[in-house]
Amino acid sequence: MLKILENIVKNAFSPVYTSNYPYTPYQHFPGTRADVTFDGTKCILCGLCQRSCPPECIIIHKEKEEIEYLNTQCIRCGYCVRVCPTNAIVQNEVYTKPSRERLTIYTKVTNENAPVIKKRKAAEAAARAAPAAKAQEPASLPGKEDKTGK
Ligand code: SF4
Ligand code: SF4
Repeated sequence: MLKILENIVKNAFSPVYTSNYPYTPYQHFPGTRADVTFDGTKCILCGLCQRSCPPECIIIHKEKEEIEYLNTQCIRCGYCVRVCPTNAIVQNEVYTKPSRERLTIYTKVTNENAPVIKKRKAAEAAARAAPAAKAQEPASLPGKEDKTGK
C-alpha cells in the first residue's frame, strides 16, 4: 500500500511522457519508417529494390524506364532503402491513410547514367546518324558504270 502511494506521488510530479492526442498533433519519433518515395533522377533501374521487397510492391519497368510502387501493399520495412546503390529511395515520416483502393505510384526514371537509358540513347543516335551517312554517299562510284549499253 505504501509502495502504491509512493508511486502515485512520484508520478504526479514526474514529466509527462505521453501526448494528449488527438487534441495535440501527433509527433513522429525520430527514425520513423513510413512512406517510400523514389527519385527518378538518381535511379539506374538496377532492380535491387524489386528483388529485396518482401511483399513485391516494387516493379521495375526497364523498357518503360519507370518504377511502379504499390503503396497500399508496402509494409514500410525499409529494405529497399538499404539496398539502393544510388540513394534513390527515401523513407519519410508521413503515412498514407489506409484505403480500400489500391494506390499505385509511378516514377519516371530520367537518370542518363542508367544502362538501359544509355543503350536506348546510343541506339537512337545511331538511327539518326544512319540516314545522314547514306545521304552523303555518292550516287555511283567511278568505274562501276553500267556497261551493258542499255
Ligand atoms: S519499404 Fe519494404 S515493403 Fe515497402 S517498398 Fe521498400 S522493401 Fe518493399
Ligand atoms: S531505386 Fe535504387 S535499387 Fe531500385 S532500381 Fe533504382 S537504383 Fe536500383
